[in-house]
Amino acid sequence: MPLSMSWVRRLLIPVILISTRVAGQEQSPIWLEQQTIYAAVNSSTLNCDRAAIGQQNVHRGIPPEGSSTSYYSTQQQELHPLCIAAPETAEQIAKAIITVKDQECPFAVKSGGHAAYAGASNIQNGLVFDLRNLNSVHISEDKSIASVGSGNRWIDVYSVLQEHKLAVAGGRIASVGVGGFLLGGGLSLYSQKYGWAVDNVRNFEVVLADGAIVNANADTNSDLFWALRGGGSNFGIVTRFDLQTHPLDLVWGGTELVALSDLASRQSALNLREPFDWTLRSASNNMGRVLRQGLCFIGKCVHSRDFINHFVRMAEQPDTNAHMYTFFAWFPQLRMMGAGGSHAYLAPVAEPPAFENMTSMNTFFSTTKLRTLTDLVKELDAFTLSGYRTYWDTLTFKVDAELISKLWDIFLEETHEIKNIPNCQPATNNQLITKRHIALSEKDGGNPMGIKSEDGPLFLFSITVTYTDPMDDARMRNAAQNVMSRAKALAQEMGLYHPFVFKNYANGETDVYAGYGAESRQKLREIQKKYDSAGVFSRLQPGGHKL
Ligand SMILES: Cc1cc2nc3c(=O)[nH]c(=O)nc-3n(C[C@H](O)[C@H](O)[C@H](O)COP(=O)(O)OP(=O)(O)OC[C@H]3O[C@@H](n4cnc5c(N)ncnc54)[C@H](O)[C@@H]3O)c2cc1C
Repeated sequence: MPLSMSWVRRLLIPVILISTRVAGQEQSPIWLEQQTIYAAVNSSTLNCDRAAIGQQNVHRGIPPEGSSTSYYSTQQQELHPLCIAAPETAEQIAKAIITVKDQECPFAVKSGGHAAYAGASNIQNGLVFDLRNLNSVHISEDKSIASVGSGNRWIDVYSVLQEHKLAVAGGRIASVGVGGFLLGGGLSLYSQKYGWAVDNVRNFEVVLADGAIVNANADTNSDLFWALRGGGSNFGIVTRFDLQTHPLDLVWGGTELVALSDLASRQSALNLREPFDWTLRSASNNMGRVLRQGLCFIGKCVHSRDFINHFVRMAEQPDTNAHMYTFFAWFPQLRMMGAGGSHAYLAPVAEPPAFENMTSMNTFFSTTKLRTLTDLVKELDAFTLSGYRTYWDTLTFKVDAELISKLWDIFLEETHEIKNIPNCQPATNNQLITKRHIALSEKDGGNPMGIKSEDGPLFLFSITVTYTDPMDDARMRNAAQNVMSRAKALAQEMGLYHPFVFKNYANGETDVYAGYGAESRQKLREIQKKYDSAGVFSRLQPGGHKL
């Protein structure tokens, strides 16, 4: 059994509190500066200001509470829009989008603000449509459909559905927004049961560039319906998603951490050393080594081969209630590299046999238990780092243990230096796209993402580097890009590379739609032309991945 959580909490929580305070202090000057800008907008004749006229919820002088800090990354928070419109209805958006079009006003659309790269859902000197007031959650009479306003965060949706012992395929982290998550495909706890989260959308209500409010579903505007299942913000502003509900009681799940018994031998084979140089950092890194050795001494260690094999075997796991992802990361609080996994079982079964390989491992930290879905996604959220600078990127590979092991070595080498920068947390994670998941996604007309059943099983290999100092931007980005370019070259050499790019984890410069394949991209472009012939969403909205 893993050690109890309390000692880890005691160790981690002070660190988390300190880092939150540091992040808060850094934001205040930005906040004041924004107020000045909002005051200026009041008397301005700028196009963007006019675009927002006529709406009740235009914030001038005082920005809506938390409008800057509600972005996940500092890079997004740092942009200064001229005005923010927080509409309450699709009709208000429709009216505004016509003015935006007439005035040629640059704009951004924000749901939960969790896209990590600058400008995805915020804009310098433009108008932000903040969808926060589109926050209704309505359950149909027969309880089969949840109609969800596109400004909701997943925690709000799950909280309502839980009262009815229902759930939908949505985010695994409480604060992620409904809008961006679904329009990027959405990898949910239900992927083994129902494919991509967006495959569970039965109808989209969309405001088009000409102000028309339309539905897109299997019968009406079916080409747009197909395009929105992974095509992002290129077609209109989605105001409501009608989602298939699924019965759900308690789930079993949580996060487990493992110390690696072969970490030292890996590092020395790679010639990576932690020389002792009488600095505090050097001392603490060596403490991390001692901690890991201590954990191994008391039998709380796992060989990386066993851990990786657990992940690989899950690609063939027939139990569709079982969902997991793994990570290999620098744990800054513990000053050591380690691995871990987050697991969820969509039924009230403690330690389900599907996870036997993991539950029998000597993990040193575990939060797994029977719980509600809201409890699980809140906990997973607490492990993430919002309000930091961050760099994300992702690639797709065929599942192979040897490849994963080599990817870990690349990660160790390329992050050996940056991990010592204060507040830096480099991490990679592996997430499965099983054959079953792909087959489910091909049903009901499919989607534009371009993955075929015979391609699977695949996994997403993603990197996140989190840090605080803007002076480190280039260094962090270079380190992450080195990991990813070496990973891609290695997978290509091993014949395990797949061109798919998962939009939700891609950075802003990635040509996501190239990864969907030429045929899909061409079809998406034609659909975009049909529904937005003036190019409002391609020309005036700089954020988001372009077709
Ligand atoms: C901590 C964390 C955990 C995550 N976990 C997962 C996960 O489990 N599975 C997964 O698949 N992804 C996950 N992601 C990735 C996440 O799904 C994407 O970043 C997604 O874009 C976030 O959606 P959002 O609405 O919060 O973001 P936003 O930044 O608000 O929006 C993202 C993009 O979508 C556009 N957009 C948003 N709403 C609309 C709309 N209604 N109409 C038109 N365009 C719109 C925006 O303009 C922007 O380009 C996670 C991200 C973070 C930071």
